[in-house]
Amino acid sequence: MGGYSRILLAVDLTEDCKRVAERALELAEQSGAELHVVHVIEPLSLAYGGEIPMDLSSVQDQIHDQAKSHLAAFSSEIGIQEHRRHLVFGRPESEIHRLANEQNADVIVVGSHGRHGIALLLGSTANGVLHGATCDVLAVRVGNDTSLS
Ligand code: AMP
Repeated sequence: MGGYSRILLAVDLTEDCKRVAERALELAEQSGAELHVVHVIEPLSLAYGGEIPMDLSSVQDQIHDQAKSHLAAFSSEIGIQEHRRHLVFGRPESEIHRLANEQNADVIVVGSHGRHGIALLLGSTANGVLHGATCDVLAVRVGNDTSLS
């Protein structure tokens, strides 16, 4: 595999990311591509399926600060420079697509849990990214195949 010039690595900032990042780094090295990383913060109202009758702005700010420092630590560890780190807010699938287009990425790298049963029916971010992507998508198998996380 080769010929990529810009790779977008999508990370949920869980333990699984390391494995996914390793693949993205290998691919970047093989193809001499630029590696970008994105983490999407889901608004609490989206995560909980609608309006919440409470002011959650301070909780949302804390989530943002924490995600920012985790993304910085993770990116430094794997050698991704600051201007190639993207922290965005919204629905992961759509934001990953939007950023891939904006950055002219030619491949998106995501982690994929082998899902079964109800978890498979509910879908996954990897599936969401694959459907509607306008560039290649590399799904790196992570976790145990019965994982419901
Ligand atoms: P999941 O749907 O939890 O199986 O997510 C699988 C993969 O989707 C992760 O390994 C990431 O590559 C990507 N992903 C999930 N959530 C996010 C997020 N909030 N921001 C960026 N990428 C994500």
